[in-house]
Amino acid sequence: MSFDPNKIEYKKHHFVNGEFRSEHESTYDYIRPSDQKNLDSIPNASKDLVNETVEKAQKAFEDSEWSSLKPRQRAKILFKWADLIEKDVDYLSKVEAMNSTRLISETSQGDVFGTADTIRYFAEWADKIEGQTTASSPNVLSLTIKQPYGVVLGITPWNFPIVQVAWKAAPALAAGNAVIIKPSEYTPLSIFRLAELSIKAGFPNGIFNYLLGEGSITGNYLVQHPGIAKIAFTGSSATGAKIMSESALSGLKPVHLELGGKSPQIVFDDITDIDDTVSKIAAGMYVNSGQVCTSGTRLIAHKKIVNELTDKLIKIGNQKLPGLTWDNNTTLPPIVSKKQAERIDSLISKSVEMGANVISGGSWHDTNYGGFFYKPTFIEKVSTDMPVYKEEVFGPVINIDTFSDYEEAVQMADHPTYGLAACVHTSNLNMAINLSKKIDSGMIWVNHWGYPDEFSHPAGGFKRSGIGKDMGSSGINEYYKEKAIWIPH
Ligand code: ADP
Repeated sequence: MSFDPNKIEYKKHHFVNGEFRSEHESTYDYIRPSDQKNLDSIPNASKDLVNETVEKAQKAFEDSEWSSLKPRQRAKILFKWADLIEKDVDYLSKVEAMNSTRLISETSQGDVFGTADTIRYFAEWADKIEGQTTASSPNVLSLTIKQPYGVVLGITPWNFPIVQVAWKAAPALAAGNAVIIKPSEYTPLSIFRLAELSIKAGFPNGIFNYLLGEGSITGNYLVQHPGIAKIAFTGSSATGAKIMSESALSGLKPVHLELGGKSPQIVFDDITDIDDTVSKIAAGMYVNSGQVCTSGTRLIAHKKIVNELTDKLIKIGNQKLPGLTWDNNTTLPPIVSKKQAERIDSLISKSVEMGANVISGGSWHDTNYGGFFYKPTFIEKVSTDMPVYKEEVFGPVINIDTFSDYEEAVQMADHPTYGLAACVHTSNLNMAINLSKKIDSGMIWVNHWGYPDEFSHPAGGFKRSGIGKDMGSSGINEYYKEKAIWIPH
């Protein structure tokens, strides 16, 4: 499956009203994560192009047959899009791996299929959104209907580029909205293929659009545009807060936000298969080199088993092979950018200065590739005032903490600011249920880590980890507004 990235063709265009466009007010350098090669200059969509795109998307929403199409017809086009994406796995998995931190071994087995299946999941919702009749006097018909917002803006992150486009665009489209995606400036080169396939699938022009550009430029123009009716965002908590305040000040647009996390992996000493538990914790630490919002970054283990767990996790980490995303043998992907690499360094060195102890890792792999590959890192003696506790690190880094009894585990599980996901590893079902109810996190995974490949599981966090949900029935509900109708008769 390994391939030559220089043979992969791509488009660095915007996609507006069914056409690829290249207008820009400035450009920025796209640096490929694997080798830090300055590959190309990418257009920042200009304010004029943002205005034009929103206007065309609004017109498509109002005039085209999309929102007034029979829901089943919308579903058929979404299904066709999903089928075309899946059939394109050979190319799409390569351009995605070339463009991002995602490994070819994973994009070809997971990401492309996950993208297609997400679209299928939401296609199935298209004709199942129903209002209700509400209690009223006998001489009144009182009911609710659900209607699409209009133009939905989806702002997506760099860690799972095409999957994230599907998470935002598919429910919005299934609900009858027009969509504009603003992908991350770090991974701008794979979304064009989804757009090409959307034309083939039969979307009317202007219903699926995307604009490339930096968040502070193009992203900002989009968020402030009065024609945007709803914003769906995935990214950092700081940017999420900014987008929420800007959208409030520019028309009170509804937003839903999927943000950062500091997810605990709580392990009791009654687990029956330690290797199985270790493999799950390892996934929570190593997938995408820890560049996942739900990464299990706080190991909270019973004191009797903490050493054995840590040794096994370190052993797995030592076997991880840093390398290029287009090399099928690579098992430790690069950190996305120099800026992010420096951030990891700074969070860890400041914590060490404050008294944290690095048991293993804590430095960079020495490779000739050019990219930044952080060694799997285990830190103990972490106190709650340290950056490595307070901040999301976004690298293969885990804090190690221990507890003696259930009460202590409960007390350590919650994080003061984040509440995205939490994993509970135990064979005691009662304890798992009790903890699931107690922990203040949007997702609780028992003897499991990771968003499951069953798309009905609502994804989203509490506190600074977000507002609202992606996926599941809660996910589709984010893309409708509910109207109440009162008819005396
Ligand atoms: P990161 O710094 O790791 O890329 P961000 O949360 O800043 O994480 O970025 C996530 C997405 O939000 C990206 O698509 C980015 O371009 C976009 N973004 C960043 N800042 C803004 C902003 N002020 N307005 C709109 N979008 C933004």
